[in-house]
Amino acid sequence: MGNKKTITAHVSNEPFGGGNFRKLFDAVVDAMLLVDESGYIVLANSAAQYLCGYANDALCGMEIETLVPHRFREHHRRYRAMYYAHPRKRPMGNGRDLMLLNRSGEEIDADISLSPITIKEQLYTLVMLSAVDRCYQVENALRESEERLWLIKQAAGAGLFDIDCISERIYCDERMRELWWNKADEIITLEKFFAAVHPNDRARCRAAFDNAVNPVKEGICRAEFRVAQAAGHTERWIAMLGQAQFEGGAAKRIVGIVRDITERKILEQSLQQQRNETETLFNQQVAVITASAIAHELNSPLTAISAYGEVAQRALSSTPIDCDQAKEAFQGCVEQVQHAGSKLKELLSFLQNSEVETEALNLNHVVEDALTQARGDGYAEFHLALELESDLPAVMANKIQIQRVLVNLIRNSVEALRAAEISASEITIAVKTVANESMSLVTIKDNGPGIGRDTISRIFEPFFTTKPTGFGVGLSISRALIEANGGQLWVDPDYRQGAQFHFTLPFAS
Ligand code: ADP
Repeated sequence: MGNKKTITAHVSNEPFGGGNFRKLFDAVVDAMLLVDESGYIVLANSAAQYLCGYANDALCGMEIETLVPHRFREHHRRYRAMYYAHPRKRPMGNGRDLMLLNRSGEEIDADISLSPITIKEQLYTLVMLSAVDRCYQVENALRESEERLWLIKQAAGAGLFDIDCISERIYCDERMRELWWNKADEIITLEKFFAAVHPNDRARCRAAFDNAVNPVKEGICRAEFRVAQAAGHTERWIAMLGQAQFEGGAAKRIVGIVRDITERKILEQSLQQQRNETETLFNQQVAVITASAIAHELNSPLTAISAYGEVAQRALSSTPIDCDQAKEAFQGCVEQVQHAGSKLKELLSFLQNSEVETEALNLNHVVEDALTQARGDGYAEFHLALELESDLPAVMANKIQIQRVLVNLIRNSVEALRAAEISASEITIAVKTVANESMSLVTIKDNGPGIGRDTISRIFEPFFTTKPTGFGVGLSISRALIEANGGQLWVDPDYRQGAQFHFTLPFAS
């Protein structure tokens, strides 16, 4: 216990204007102490006595440090001296948690504020005490953070889900039920969740879930898919992001959010359509320019061949037959054909030799970039199986051209899968080293309808297409680009589960 000073005069309330002050002090419901400049308590109201566990006027005359836990007492004395040097109304503790020592030696969390008060030219400090309910504080903080989360969720229009991986039941909030067209009291199971997903997107959505519950992975569940549960409901595009929680090596629950991204998807699709139209126009222009260049090169030899042909015809139909003239005309035809051939060769080598800048490339990265580009171009609705080779030596090639080839092949696969309405569509891209050949081999295969025997021999011909809006230049250009980079591109004629294309590229060293 701290020192006890005899302050009978104070207790008898003389300096404070008699019993009225004391009555007023006692009537206040908050705990209050009045402390003099030397640190002694001169008045304590009933609430303060009750809070600190003292009876009647037992606190009066005690040093204020009596109520401070032992370890803080010295510090408190210094603090008190500093306070009296510059007394002003303020809370104590600078945001730190404060403690009061009660009569039984227990420490109580408290908020303390100080106000200087001058009575009959003597400075006192009015100390206001209130016990802090930490539990209430924590609850309050939790409620505030829940409110903040709710506001964020509302602003983003997001729905919440909590999947119990053991019972396969899903807790959904109101927004998520709305997005899935579920009734408020309906129990949602994992099966119902997947059943509402568009059949073409279901495999992708399930793959995201399988990925999240796989304990060797990071537990992230991320996918974009369409939801339309029953006839009459319009289709919605949903973005899902969740995180699995594991216990004993197995996924216990996945908690996450879903957002309606239909508007974004519609915008992307219309942009894609515009891009496709522009590309078709561009391809048409390229074709027209190429055809005009060929026509230009062939025009004069063809005119000359026609003239020589007429001369030969006349020479052969004259009597007697003019063999010399016919011979000369045929010779002219042969020369013009050779001339046309060499002109065409020149044109092709000009088109092929246009500056190809090559660099050492990590093919795995080029594949990943091409996938991003293809997805960005609207070719994303397939399950991807990537088989990349780690430690793959760098290849020497032009990045843009190889990317272009990969995007073409991915795009062809997606278009074939779409046209055949394959629900569990899958594309596999494998990159590996060709043993003993200092080459890398890229394989792209899909589980689409494949290529018929009658068409497979023609698919690399320029302008050959089986698509209503196809232009038929993708594969011929792709093959030319791979060859310009020192590799080869071909289709596997014996592949039966879909279509399978391969290309090679030489290693840099
Ligand atoms: P386009 O795509 O404009 O038709 P391409 O030269 O890229 O031109 O393709 C030529 C043809 O090859 C296509 O029309 C199609 O018949 C066939 N084809 C290409 N890739 C595939 C594939 N993955 N699956 C089935 N057919 C394909």
